[in-house]
Amino acid sequence: MMIDDRTVQRTLADGGFYTGRIDGLYGDASRGATRNALIARGHAIAPWIDPRCRIALEQTIMAEAGIETGPIDGLAGPQTRIALERWQDRSRAVEPAPVNVAHQPDLFPRQKDVRAFYGAPGEHQTVLDLPFAMRLAWDTDTIIRRFSIHEKAHDSAARAFARIRDHYGEEKLRALGLDLFGGCLNVRRMRGGKAMSMHSWGIAIDFDPAHNALRWGRDRARMARPAYARFLDIWEEEGWISLGRERNFDWMHVQAARL
Ligand SMILES: [Zn+2]
Repeated sequence: MMIDDRTVQRTLADGGFYTGRIDGLYGDASRGATRNALIARGHAIAPWIDPRCRIALEQTIMAEAGIETGPIDGLAGPQTRIALERWQDRSRAVEPAPVNVAHQPDLFPRQKDVRAFYGAPGEHQTVLDLPFAMRLAWDTDTIIRRFSIHEKAHDSAARAFARIRDHYGEEKLRALGLDLFGGCLNVRRMRGGKAMSMHSWGIAIDFDPAHNALRWGRDRARMARPAYARFLDIWEEEGWISLGRERNFDWMHVQAARL
């Protein structure tokens, strides 16, 4: 096993087989997704144990990248070893600085520490210019090209939006409803609570609230579907969190504060 766990997870997520975090922890969910990805490619893996499936998946990743691996058999024979060397040479040559590791993600505070980190609610705001036009979720004829955000959350959000546009393209973003802006800065209490909402600091963004209602879980929220995994991964890679992934609640919402 030589291809790193994150690359394997990302491949599984892109194929719709894995909806968990791209965390580099190859656990049960990743192992199950690996088996499903191999079955979907027509491989008769029933008698194979998990490590053999993992090698087979790496063989398919390399084969689909145009590297000759020999048969997809989950056995790390000489041809697979040579292929892995080529894969690693290529990874070193082609990926000098992928965006997600070109910088350390900003370390955002826990929710209880946001006032110390961000200051008073509604202050220290700046304007984020969007790299693609969004529609206001509750009045879709209104086009959103920029919005107010906290100055300490601006850079990571700007990178996330640019990466999201590059990954999906504007047509797909629109089809998925990821261009539906549900708000950022909004100085108010949390719904049903006394504490201030993270929106009060302009450090939370909502997307497509109509299809990701506050109290819906992953069985109903559109954001929990595989097509949205990369969108949420990108926010997480920028140091933000998804309440949907963390709490299976409020799937519309990402924020630059940890729980
Ligand atoms: Zn929200």
